[in-house]
Amino acid sequence: MTPAFHYKNGRLYCEALDLHAFSREVETPFYIFSKSELENNCRQINEMGKGLSFLPCYAMKANYNPTLLTIIRDMGLGADVVSGGELQFALKVGFDPQKIVFAGVGKTKEEIELAMKTGIHSLNIESAQEFELVADLAGTHRQKVRIALRVNPDIEAHTHAYISTGKHINKFGIPEREAEKLYLKAAENPWLEVAGIHIHIGSQITTSGPFEDASKFMREFAERLKKQGVPITFLDLGGGIGINYHNNFKKDEPTTYIKDILPVYLEGLKSPGMELVLELGRAVVGSAGILVSKVLYQKETPQKKFLIVDGAMNNLIRPSLYQAYHEIVPLMDRYKSSQVYDVVGPVCETGDFLARERSLPPIPAGEYLAVVGAGAYGQALASNYNLRPRIAEYLVDGEEVRTIFKQETIEDIFNRFER
Ligand SMILES: *Cc1c(COP(=O)(O)O)cnc(C)c1O
Repeated sequence: MTPAFHYKNGRLYCEALDLHAFSREVETPFYIFSKSELENNCRQINEMGKGLSFLPCYAMKANYNPTLLTIIRDMGLGADVVSGGELQFALKVGFDPQKIVFAGVGKTKEEIELAMKTGIHSLNIESAQEFELVADLAGTHRQKVRIALRVNPDIEAHTHAYISTGKHINKFGIPEREAEKLYLKAAENPWLEVAGIHIHIGSQITTSGPFEDASKFMREFAERLKKQGVPITFLDLGGGIGINYHNNFKKDEPTTYIKDILPVYLEGLKSPGMELVLELGRAVVGSAGILVSKVLYQKETPQKKFLIVDGAMNNLIRPSLYQAYHEIVPLMDRYKSSQVYDVVGPVCETGDFLARERSLPPIPAGEYLAVVGAGAYGQALASNYNLRPRIAEYLVDGEEVRTIFKQETIEDIFNRFER
């Protein structure tokens, strides 16, 4: 099978769409997604859970475009939400409430009540005080709530500090001992249905080691709770499976680490009657999208060469925020030489870059490049900084391409203000 993004006669294609020709017809920068890559990622995840009681959820925060959400829903995945807003989006696009899990360190009373009213798969509680609030609300409304506690297993995810979440220095989850006490307390409360254990140790994890540690932790903790009479029926393993940000579309290599990591993780936990829940964001949508940007200028100082492009940190903040690496490739692969460049945007911040010290062909002004693996945490983290509009998103399905997010206009932004 031809990979979704591939070169043909030196031109980059998304499925059957010639991206260079397309870029000349529309405004740049833009995000463009491959439906087949998105479906393929969902399919791979589903296949890994064959024969298990399995609920893979999509972590909506990675990208909440409703068209993409609908495709993911149609592929049978549930939704992992971290705010009332995400819960409302999930319901609007028709996710089955029974396939929605809700985590987050700072849920408000209103968000908890919305989740209760909706009747979701589980509310994942992240602190002792939140536990008390949920117990109070359940009692007051005389409505049973299905809960899990998010436990902080103090596991090193070996990823960037800003996306590591499972250590005791992180704000997420409840330390094991405290969680154990809360489980026992919850088991006594008639309004709480204690059903699961939740962990999420971090993001962009590319080796199975941290997940082996996490599996072991979950197994032992569930065992200990069961012995004390706490009926655990599901384990929510969180997300965090990484993608291949080094893919240059030149050879057919895996775009995600789903197949390398997921079987190890699930294997360690399968046991009769136990449902395994996942919350994958990046692994679902990350490799399905790229950011296409036009070179505006080349510029040289005595020490550096710059490619100044029209995409910037307000469109894709990952390089600036997490020192994240994204491969950068030309849409027309016709260059013989390369140079070391910083690829920077027009935003007035030194931290505005898409790549640093990168060996790239000398793409001239007016030509295009693609930032690889931009489908997750790209547009979702975009802002209007420097009064730059949020850019268009397109979806490719075979030869067809359609707009799934219309680029904002300055008028749109202006009109949002009260004057
Ligand atoms: C962000 C997040 C995820 C998804 O992380 P990915 O690395 O995108 O898979 C899953 N669960 C929770 C609780 C999260 O905060």
